[in-house]
Amino acid sequence: MTNHPAHAPRTHPTDWDVIVIGGGPAGLSAALMLGRARRRVLVIDAGSPRNRFASHMHGVLGNDGTPPAELIERGRTEAAVYGVDFVSGAVDRVDESDHGVVVSSSEGRLSARAVVVATGLTDELPSIPGLAERWGRSVLHCPYCHGWEVRDQRLGVIAISPLSLHQIELVRQWSDHVVAFTAALGAVEDATLARLRSRGVVIVDSPVVEVLGDGDRVSGVRTEDGLVIEVDAIFSGGMPRPHDHFLTHLDLERTENPMGSFLLVDATGRTSNPRIWAAGNVVVAGATVPMSMGAGATVGGAVNGALVAEDFDAAVALVLGAAVPSGDEDPADFWEQRYSGTDQSWSGSPNHSLVDVVAGLAPGRALDLGCGEGADAVWLAEQGWDVTGIDISATAVARATAAAAKAGLGDDRVRFVATDLDAWSGDGEFDLVTASFFHSPVALERTGILRRAAARVAPGGHLLIVSHAAPPPGVEVPAAHLAMLLNPQQEVDALALPSSEWTTVIAETRPRPLTRLQAHAGHGVEEIDDVIVLLRRSA
Ligand SMILES: Cc1cc2nc3c(=O)[nH]c(=O)nc-3n(C[C@H](O)[C@H](O)[C@H](O)COP(=O)(O)OP(=O)(O)OC[C@H]3O[C@@H](n4cnc5c(N)ncnc54)[C@H](O)[C@@H]3O)c2cc1C
Repeated sequence: MTNHPAHAPRTHPTDWDVIVIGGGPAGLSAALMLGRARRRVLVIDAGSPRNRFASHMHGVLGNDGTPPAELIERGRTEAAVYGVDFVSGAVDRVDESDHGVVVSSSEGRLSARAVVVATGLTDELPSIPGLAERWGRSVLHCPYCHGWEVRDQRLGVIAISPLSLHQIELVRQWSDHVVAFTAALGAVEDATLARLRSRGVVIVDSPVVEVLGDGDRVSGVRTEDGLVIEVDAIFSGGMPRPHDHFLTHLDLERTENPMGSFLLVDATGRTSNPRIWAAGNVVVAGATVPMSMGAGATVGGAVNGALVAEDFDAAVALVLGAAVPSGDEDPADFWEQRYSGTDQSWSGSPNHSLVDVVAGLAPGRALDLGCGEGADAVWLAEQGWDVTGIDISATAVARATAAAAKAGLGDDRVRFVATDLDAWSGDGEFDLVTASFFHSPVALERTGILRRAAARVAPGGHLLIVSHAAPPPGVEVPAAHLAMLLNPQQEVDALALPSSEWTTVIAETRPRPLTRLQAHAGHGVEEIDDVIVLLRRSA
């Protein structure tokens, strides 16, 4: 079956939409939801689910008594129907990247827009000879999972922490014959002991030194004072150690509870990193299989919801460079919000059409109108131009300045000014004035600004305008915004520059390959038409 929509893009900014780390009940449920939502999903799984020691699962509706491995196998088969892919391996690091996250494992480095952590936990068992060997068989941890199977039998509870008091009371629900081994609790208050004894629980405070039995079966418990107490099954537990070491360097928020320290997640399973979700035992030590499945399904839906919103945001931004505004906003506020609301708005690469055209021009002084985060200006400076970039957003200009510094360009080669071009009155002439995608859904006196900038072009210099020819297929754009998109001749006519002074060198529509992020948002288009107008002022 084809996973992705018929109009799915053929190129992607990331290897996967979502990488699910851990293929137990939580991870597989998330993967199933995401696969059915037509996401490109990879599950990386180390293959050691927490309940692998038990021969059968209980309390799992529709699967009561099913072997754990069988549920996993069925889950993988179901998810695979929707195109979910699987690899075996252990993830050892997750890093942030421009477009999402990079997941490192024995499979190498793979990128994704989001990650679901469903890696479960290790039960760090008390080191009592004979206990770990029978874990999940006759040494049990959860009476809801296995209490029914040992009901009315002689049950021992080996306490490991204060939480074990609750386990002792709980186990009493399944049998009248309960012996509590309380040494690990230290001195227990008389009232607590009286409470346990009130329902016939026998207290043994001498430390347990050995669990006795034959093969998988428990037969008794030997204590330090030399007693052997016969039991048919034991309930105990381990300290839960969540498998989240591969996130440590990201410093995600955590929460402490009596079970230990766990990643903090919100109601949808999102961690403090907006691209990392977590579900199942890795965040809730007490979650059983159905609870982990529920959490995984919740996270699967939440991750898809977040990606859906991101796809719409990107699609709108692709056309107008902004969320659809009412039109009444103050332009400076609008653009400042637009930039400050994201980490990075554009790809960071220079515009393809600009690169193409400018490659044929001799470097001189250049002015970049509406320079945004500075990718075009930085590229021009790298080609030897002396560049001034102007943008109305202080955040965009700060990013542009940082991008130039990162490229090793001093302000003798490129400088940026945060100002409204309507009010800008800088000095001098320029050999090249560029305006790439100089559109705005809020007030912009575009033609006036372009005409004034044209007056700054030195004799023999050029004015280059690159703009959108049309919105990409599938993106709804208000009619008022569509009217802003001019064809090449309309662009030339609108400028109305004197033909005695100006020659039209290029006035045409050219295809431009979309960046991978844009291709993704554009669903099925890998190229988009740009309007290119290049005018030359007479020498
Ligand atoms: C002995 C025992 C018996 C149980 N019996 C029952 C029962 O009868 N009914 C019930 O409802 N619950 C039972 N449980 C609880 C049950 O095991 C958990 O609820 C369930 O396993 C949680 O699912 P999960 O997907 O969060 O984690 P897990 O099932 O533990 O799956 C996590 C997966 O992630 C993988 N992984 C870990 N680290 C990495 C990494 N770095 N990279 C890639 N993969 C990784 C693991 O190998 C594993 O395959 C039992 C638990 C125990 C200990």
